[in-house]
Amino acid sequence: MNDDFRIGHGYDIHRLEADRRLILCGVQVPFEKGLLGHSDADAPVHALIDALLGALALGDIGRLFPDTDAAYKDADSLKLLQRVMSLEVFQNWEIVNADITIIAQAPKLAPYIDQFRFNLANTLHLTTDRISVKAKTAEGLGDVGHGNAIEATAIILLRKTN
Ligand code: MG
Repeated sequence: MNDDFRIGHGYDIHRLEADRRLILCGVQVPFEKGLLGHSDADAPVHALIDALLGALALGDIGRLFPDTDAAYKDADSLKLLQRVMSLEVFQNWEIVNADITIIAQAPKLAPYIDQFRFNLANTLHLTTDRISVKAKTAEGLGDVGHGNAIEATAIILLRKTN
């Protein structure tokens, strides 16, 4: 077995604003506000993309998909994730597992966790046991705790396949 492993970490935060859809891990979550961004502002998916890129020291999502590029306006972030995984440089690597944490004061995300995991696993062609998504509040502290933003972190482990 190949023992060349790489670990990557990602972080993202987006502002919550009225008149935006709240998209998390590709799920439209019913809520009075949504995340502001050039793309669909799917913070956990952006964190996961940064973790993937970080594992192979490839920079970050902004370098690959600049927010000045009209092509990525309102882009479906799951499609961006798919595009990252299909890059030539990832063809000799497999994902061992990924662990994502979403920090949101509201809404309650527990009812959506299984769908979040399914969407990510499906996009990455993995079984759901390799994808963990956790949600927590910020205990009312700071901008996330005051409901002005949602943030996400991700960590991922890659193994070389040949
Ligand atoms: Mg982002």
